[in-house]
Amino acid sequence: MSSLEKTLGVIREMARTVEENRKTLTQLDSAIGDGDHGTNLSRGFKAALESLESSSPGTPAEALKAVSMAMIGKVGGASGPLYGTAFLRASSSLGGKEELSGEDVAAAIVAALEGVKQRGKAELEDKTMVDALEPAAEAARSAAGEGAAAVFRAAAEAARKGADETEPLVARRGRASYLGPRSAGHVDPGAASTALLFEAASRALEEN
Ligand code: ADP
Ligand code: MG
Repeated sequence: MSSLEKTLGVIREMARTVEENRKTLTQLDSAIGDGDHGTNLSRGFKAALESLESSSPGTPAEALKAVSMAMIGKVGGASGPLYGTAFLRASSSLGGKEELSGEDVAAAIVAALEGVKQRGKAELEDKTMVDALEPAAEAARSAAGEGAAAVFRAAAEAARKGADETEPLVARRGRASYLGPRSAGHVDPGAASTALLFEAASRALEEN
């Protein structure tokens, strides 16, 4: 199977996972935000799948760029531009490559993290998606020599742990920060969705 087919499989599994967890993500966002994170991501991934069907991307980078454009164009709120930036940076880092190594995939994840941090200005422990994405990028880099599936497996494990660890934190970025100390005691919805997306990617590659 080509890297393009694998990338499309990853995106489809991400879309399916977002749909399956739409209510959970929305419930998390109801606790410390405005309750739209699940519907936001669902709208974005539906638009991404439509765009991929009509545009027939020729490389992994083109497929990721279509996801980015859908996120930026169709998802309101903070998470649309942030995930849009993540997918766009991942896309740019791959360039025109047809076949992706573990190193390529890890570099794309690191690029996504850098984009999100630049755009949203969040650091570790601000209780945002960065708390899942940064450990994921570190784990990805460590597993880079073991191939793409191992990279996503390591990233998914680290992202899940990072997301779980947002529960006691007080939010310092995004809508949840308006709650101050009352934001503690809930997992951050964006960190949870980042963990779900890495888990989806990992599953998609294990199945191949
Ligand atoms: P909104 O907060 O505008 O309603 P969403 O509900 O879709 O948007 O997304 C909320 C998530 O976005 C938060 O849980 C958090 O993970 C993430 N987020 C918000 N602001 C930032 C930021 N500055 N940097 C990184 N992530 C952020
Ligand atoms: Mg929200």
